[in-house]
Amino acid sequence: MKRLLRKLHKFITKDINTGEKEAGDLVVLLRVLSLIYVVYYIFVGLSLAFLYQYAYAFIALICSGILAGCFVVSYDNQSKLARRLFHIVTISSACFFTLVAGWTMNFQWNLLVTLLIIFYSLEIKMAQKIRYMKLLFTLLVALVIFAHMSPSYREVSELFSFVFQTVHACFYGIMLCIIAYCYCTKFNLAEEKLRQFNRKLIEMASLDALTGLPNRRSMNEHLELLVYDNDRVGAPFCVAIGDVDFFKKINDNYGHDTGDYILTTLSGLFQNIVKGRGRVARWGGEEFLFTFENMNIQQAYATLEILRLQIEKYNFQFKDHAIKITMTFGVEEYSQIIGIESTISKADQKLYEGKNSGRNKVVY
Ligand code: GH3
Ligand code: MG
Ligand code: MG
Repeated sequence: MKRLLRKLHKFITKDINTGEKEAGDLVVLLRVLSLIYVVYYIFVGLSLAFLYQYAYAFIALICSGILAGCFVVSYDNQSKLARRLFHIVTISSACFFTLVAGWTMNFQWNLLVTLLIIFYSLEIKMAQKIRYMKLLFTLLVALVIFAHMSPSYREVSELFSFVFQTVHACFYGIMLCIIAYCYCTKFNLAEEKLRQFNRKLIEMASLDALTGLPNRRSMNEHLELLVYDNDRVGAPFCVAIGDVDFFKKINDNYGHDTGDYILTTLSGLFQNIVKGRGRVARWGGEEFLFTFENMNIQQAYATLEILRLQIEKYNFQFKDHAIKITMTFGVEEYSQIIGIESTISKADQKLYEGKNSGRNKVVY
């Protein structure tokens, strides 16, 4: 049974490109409901034939045939035509069979299945949906009045009525469950997509595109948190600014690609050293801002010295260029008295002291 259902599922969804086209899930829903309706109208036809109502039975079989056509047409890139045929058949048969068989045979509820399909489609505008809703509501009210006024075929046995209504209820139950399931899946998927896009947007807004490090905006937010913690519980932290020495020459001698490669590789080294100790962000072109959390200035200095030596020893290899670089750093401990902006300015001043006194050093 499971294998059969899996095969059926594969057949129904074989031309649907999952993920991109919203109309895809509507086509699948239409196909499933068309198949159920094909069986449903055969059942209605047989029931009517059982009651010797051959003309009505024939009409039910025609409905079944048209809905089978709906199913076939939907594979031929004709989902609009399939949808129209589906609605025409379900609405007109609901009206016709309610009038000839009476309100108690429940054919009128097919109108609600149609209404749900109309509301499921994102291609139909809301104003049009409301118009359909008014039309179907009016039809339903008209049917209840006409069905009770006109003489209809009601001389059926208790047993027939019981069996017919039970099978009928099962068909509606199955169709409503399928529609509810599709609605739920559609909205869950839409919500998940929205969440993914939001995550991507937040990431894009906070990360530097080249290096993948947090950008200046994101670092400023982090600094605000560090300042808040420092004010509240006195958690010490240091900030440092690092700048690549003679980076312009690297670009000039080896090309911009090589410069980019060096910045990306450096970012990896930075992240290793700050892991569990603080953060690093791309502050500007080839300038990086570090935070060292729960550290005093001596500890931050010692950590930066390790990093400086690592960079000095590192062999940067890009294409057939073997490149050596150095970096200069200025580090300052945060002080509530001067505030975060002046702390960063002081780290910057020290960086330039380092640049002016020979580079490749950590100034604290
Ligand atoms: P100093 O030792 O004084 O810092 O010398 P420097 O050559 O590094 O001087 P400066 O800091 O003024 O030069 C920065 C250079 O970094 C200039 C700019 O072209 C380059 N740069 C900035 N952003 C990027 C980038 O994203 N990729 C590459 N390849 N180069 C960049
Ligand atoms: Mg530089
Ligand atoms: Mg610079």
